[in-house]
Amino acid sequence: MRVVLAQPRGFCAGVVRAIDIVELALQKFGAPVYVRHEIVHNKHVVDGLKLKGARFVDELDEVPEGAVTIFSAHGVSRAVVDDAKSRGLPVLDATCPLVSKVHAQSRHYVRRGRTLVLIGHIGHPEVEGTVGQVQAPVHIVSTEADVASLEIPPDTPIAYVTQTTLSVDETRGVIAALRNRFADIVGPDTSDICYATQHRQTAVRELCRLVDVLLVVGASNSSNSNRLREIGVEEGVPSYLIADSKALDLDWVTGAKVVGLTAGASAPEELVLDVIAALRQIDEVEVTQMNGTQEDIVFRLPPELRDMPSGLAAVDA
Ligand code: SF4
Repeated sequence: MRVVLAQPRGFCAGVVRAIDIVELALQKFGAPVYVRHEIVHNKHVVDGLKLKGARFVDELDEVPEGAVTIFSAHGVSRAVVDDAKSRGLPVLDATCPLVSKVHAQSRHYVRRGRTLVLIGHIGHPEVEGTVGQVQAPVHIVSTEADVASLEIPPDTPIAYVTQTTLSVDETRGVIAALRNRFADIVGPDTSDICYATQHRQTAVRELCRLVDVLLVVGASNSSNSNRLREIGVEEGVPSYLIADSKALDLDWVTGAKVVGLTAGASAPEELVLDVIAALRQIDEVEVTQMNGTQEDIVFRLPPELRDMPSGLAAVDA
């Protein structure tokens, strides 16, 4: 069996920064530190940080007075920021800078009197955080059909922003539908879909030309991982999203000559190596990696942690 690895795959700069923030906070301030929600959508990452002394909570009222508190990479609403402030909690913000950019765009558009349309998935924490950035109603759409059913007069000044981890192709269609429906509309040139999401989707589309089966390592609640599996399906390749090697059903790959393997932006590389080890139980495996974009983006750490020894706190993207 040949296994072809997608390039790029796995951790993005926002995830590396978020995990770094928790680890460096533990080193600098000592355990426990409190993290609101999963720091990134991956159980293995969360469990590893729990072992080092991080405590994960759903809401800030579970955080003891004065305890170091970290916001997850997906970002939070203004209400959560204000709540932390009123409780006097020392906060380290692990919101990905690319999500913060969408927050800033949203506030900017609403300040200028535009009605905000957010292209994204209802219930995802990033969407909840972005909606909670503005003091105005936000219309959430995820499909062209949703655009058609928006109850907004066509002459309304509109602005759109997008979740960072959507399907590049679907989002293009939704933006086109918005532009068709509303004459006075502004938004980012293409979308706010982040570099990491775009690179991983492009890589998977190319990978699908080479493989019989696609395996995507990632959590079921990881938006970008789900999109990677969907691209495999669109390309006509049987595609499976697996949390780790234990979730691999060997029947899926039995008889396959070439297996494509990728990982969502919050999935550690060890999990990819575990899947290769599991495949080796059924066959000899030759592993190659496709040519693809090399990423060298690194995000700056919050000021409170920049004195900590880390190879990551180097430059802004
Ligand atoms: Fe940031 Fe994109 Fe990574 Fe999300 S997927 S954390 S937006 S770089």
